[in-house]
Amino acid sequence: MKITLAETAAKLKAANKILLTAHVNPDGDAIGASLAMLQILREMGKTAQVYIDDKIPTNFSVMPFEEEIRRPREDETFDADLLVILDTAPDRIGNVQKLTDAPILNIDHHVTNKEAIGDWYIEADAAATCEIVFKLCHELGAQITRNIAVCLYTGLATDTGFFNYSNTKPATLRAAAELVELGVQPNLISEQLEKRSFRDVKIMSAAVLTTKLFYNGKVAGMFIGEELQRKVDNTEGLIDLIRVIDTVDVAFLIKSTAENVCRVSLRSKMTEVSNIAKRLGGGGHIRAAGCTINKSFDEAKQILIRTIGEYMLENGYLRPAEYEDREEISLADYELPDNV
Ligand code: AMP
Ligand code: MN
Ligand code: MN
Repeated sequence: MKITLAETAAKLKAANKILLTAHVNPDGDAIGASLAMLQILREMGKTAQVYIDDKIPTNFSVMPFEEEIRRPREDETFDADLLVILDTAPDRIGNVQKLTDAPILNIDHHVTNKEAIGDWYIEADAAATCEIVFKLCHELGAQITRNIAVCLYTGLATDTGFFNYSNTKPATLRAAAELVELGVQPNLISEQLEKRSFRDVKIMSAAVLTTKLFYNGKVAGMFIGEELQRKVDNTEGLIDLIRVIDTVDVAFLIKSTAENVCRVSLRSKMTEVSNIAKRLGGGGHIRAAGCTINKSFDEAKQILIRTIGEYMLENGYLRPAEYEDREEISLADYELPDNV
């Protein structure tokens, strides 16, 4: 049932043992919202625990209590009276769903989250789930400690591309300002999140070289095949390196994460990539979305490029002649002019 923020707060107050979770392939918002909720609920005297069914990228250790996040083991159970699912619809939490049969409270900001079960508070206008949790703190009358502020700020910053994307609203910046007043140091958080090993920078450059342009340069793609995927620790932010190409509307990154499993990220300047992701069984936001294609890397690539082209043609983002322009321009073969 759809509920209000006040009802969401009441559900949390009424619960005692709360299992918190967020989506697999977790990002700063998923982890930030979970860890902020963990601290708020414990402050309220509740038993609370975060489970996420995935590896937590090392950069996110900037958030306090990150080491408390557990990954469900085979046949493990957790005694809870409420399961709070953050930053995703309930279908992307992996094996956390096996931990408990407790009623679900879903707090999210994805426009594609329509299949909610249990009770849900979905605010598609919020830049991040952390923006909703920030409001929830006020609703609960909870004190935002510096540690909580760091988690919430990290979620706001990562989901807005450090307050660059179109989801950055006055309310987002006001929340960020309040969090900075509470002791967050934005420079330290970005430094931690941007940190890469020398090896990873080298691998990033190899990833950038896989870039190809399609459809008259309006689409750019980066290809992290099996071999590259084994070497790279962190693909976060890679897509932003090609999103900036002047001719590009839609940027994608496809990576082979297991046999016949390919993870896709989509970003855009105009096209509603959430609709493209939906056609491929995924979801997300208008200008940042994703999906998983359960096919071989080569098949998944073809399906993805075709689906992007078809959607853009149908919706006027590509002219028919551009759609027919199947020439792929590879960055690896692109010769710089002599004077560069
Ligand atoms: P990413 O490219 O992984 O940063 O994801 C971009 C946005 O799309 C994030 O808000 C994700 O939560 C969302 N997203 C990614 N993959 C999926 C999926 N398979 N289903 C629904 N939403 C997704
Ligand atoms: Mn997320
Ligand atoms: Mn989010």
